[in-house]
Amino acid sequence: MAALAEHAASRLADALGPAKVSTDLLDRIAYSCDASLYQLVPEIVVRAESIADVIELFAWSRRERIPLTFRAAGTSLSGQAVTNHALVVLRGFDCLHIPSNGQAVRAGCTLRGGYVNGRLRSYHRRIGPDPASIDACTIGGIVANNASGMCCGIAQNAYHTLVAMRLVLPSGTVLDTSDLEAADQLLAEREPAVYAGLCALRDQVRGDAELARIIRHRTRLKNTMGYSIAAFLDFERPADILQHLLVGSEGTLGFIADVTLRTIDEPPHATTALLGYRSLHDACAAVDAFDAEGAVAIELMDQATLAAIALHAGGRAFAPLPRTAALLVEFRYDDAEQSAAMSSRVTTLAQKTAATSLTLAASDRERHLLWQLRKGAMPSVGAARPPETALINEDVAFPRQHLAAAVHDLRSLLLEFCFSDAVIFGHARDGNMHFAFALDAAEHSIERYGRFMDEVAALVVERYDGSLKAEHSTGRNMAPYLERQWGERATALMWQLKELLDPDRLLNRDVLLSRDQRIHLRNIKQLPSVHHSIDRCIECGFCERACPSVA
Ligand SMILES: Cc1cc2nc3c(=O)[nH]c(=O)nc-3n(C[C@H](O)[C@H](O)[C@H](O)COP(=O)(O)OP(=O)(O)OC[C@H]3O[C@@H](n4cnc5c(N)ncnc54)[C@H](O)[C@@H]3O)c2cc1C
Ligand code: SF4
Repeated sequence: MAALAEHAASRLADALGPAKVSTDLLDRIAYSCDASLYQLVPEIVVRAESIADVIELFAWSRRERIPLTFRAAGTSLSGQAVTNHALVVLRGFDCLHIPSNGQAVRAGCTLRGGYVNGRLRSYHRRIGPDPASIDACTIGGIVANNASGMCCGIAQNAYHTLVAMRLVLPSGTVLDTSDLEAADQLLAEREPAVYAGLCALRDQVRGDAELARIIRHRTRLKNTMGYSIAAFLDFERPADILQHLLVGSEGTLGFIADVTLRTIDEPPHATTALLGYRSLHDACAAVDAFDAEGAVAIELMDQATLAAIALHAGGRAFAPLPRTAALLVEFRYDDAEQSAAMSSRVTTLAQKTAATSLTLAASDRERHLLWQLRKGAMPSVGAARPPETALINEDVAFPRQHLAAAVHDLRSLLLEFCFSDAVIFGHARDGNMHFAFALDAAEHSIERYGRFMDEVAALVVERYDGSLKAEHSTGRNMAPYLERQWGERATALMWQLKELLDPDRLLNRDVLLSRDQRIHLRNIKQLPSVHHSIDRCIECGFCERACPSVA
């Protein structure tokens, strides 16, 4: 480790206390991965436990010219929670307040999403964002990635359910938007340049009809590429624009201490069914029928996904698993009668859509098991991959009317680039597909991956007018494709925004925005074979919350 970083670390230890700062190699290696395909060893690992710590860190970063990256649960999939500079491990932002009716929740950034939902359960409510990783990941990570999942769609994501935020700007200014008028006034007084800059960008966007059209068009589908620049159209006050820009900003614009989110009704009765289809095409074609009946989730699984699930988690299935293609659908109701009526309706729909098999969950336990199978898709695929390979999980969205054709073309592309072990699954209701496959760190494999990603961008953006990251955020994985997704004007706007809030580019450098067109091909994880049980680990981070070494 460079002597310069050692000195900077010791000055930081003087400010924060030595227990919070480490340059120990073991700590640095332990925090060198998130759940993505990247590994970067930080020079310094530091724990931030309060807003005062974060303000101190921002000042230190400016003085020492050392970039910072926040890390919450580290379950990100696009390489946005790793760095080779200073990694800030967040702990102890655990405030929780639920007003008596449960219509909203104020939650600290380090609380796990699943824990917050547990506290909302007695109100039959939950937070809107519903990533499959919700029991492991944090509120801060969910908001900073604008994560979503099977039921969330666009309407229930953090951007659309945000009520208020306590945030810290890189300058150290703390803003609490729970009183928006006061927050706006404070921003104008303390940060006149930021205030004026946000007003200017807002007016620039509103005065440019073509840019406004692009923003509306790009956000019609799930899209977590780049910043939430729709905020310039959706909100008036700079403080309101700012808090919404922080949603999905991946720690590149400021720190989110806590948020107040509007909660979502979670009716207690569910009708859940697993349907088998002869082909992926038939399964995709059936999606409209279930959507029209109001399904809250429609999950698609292809043949390879079903095979991986059968191999690794099939023992937990209580009925035979479909083999060629499947949909897992769910409807929610306030009363049991409606739910029972939907069960017979699903049987009719299964016939109408030419399903080859139908398994209706007859109890909460069976429902839970069906969801466990679906949620275990990625770990199952990860466990099946060859040793010494990292698992890549891409996340695209297509307009739903093209889903069958797009998934077919995606499969052909995967085969063309010899990713024949790839699986395709995802949130069919939103046209949001994940495809996962293994990659080793050999140079020729990385080059092949690079050429493949260029073709994916052409397929998703140019052929189908879709999104390159629907819910996992840009990270370093898609940063080189940002302009291809958004075009020149919108990308320039994002750089202007970064310049306004973080002119020295000290926050999460090379994530979301990067001038390095090969950033997605650098620092690919090396995973030397250790033991067959250890080699199966995909570094998803789910066990981290119970791990004594990261307490
Ligand atoms: C098996 C598996 C399944 C997954 N399923 C889904 C899914 O269904 N949908 C989905 O959207 N994602 C999914 N993910 C990805 C990931 O879990 C989510 O994006 C999650 O929200 C990340 O939260 P985290 O707490 O792990 O954040 P981290 O990964 O630690 O950080 C995420 C980003 O936010 C920044 N950040 C964190 N906290 C703050 C803060 N307080 N202030 C400012 N910036 C901050 C970090 O710098 C980083 O850029 C999955 C991951 C895995 C491994
Ligand atoms: S041991 Fe399992 S839970 Fe823990 S990181 Fe690895 S795959 Fe995830």
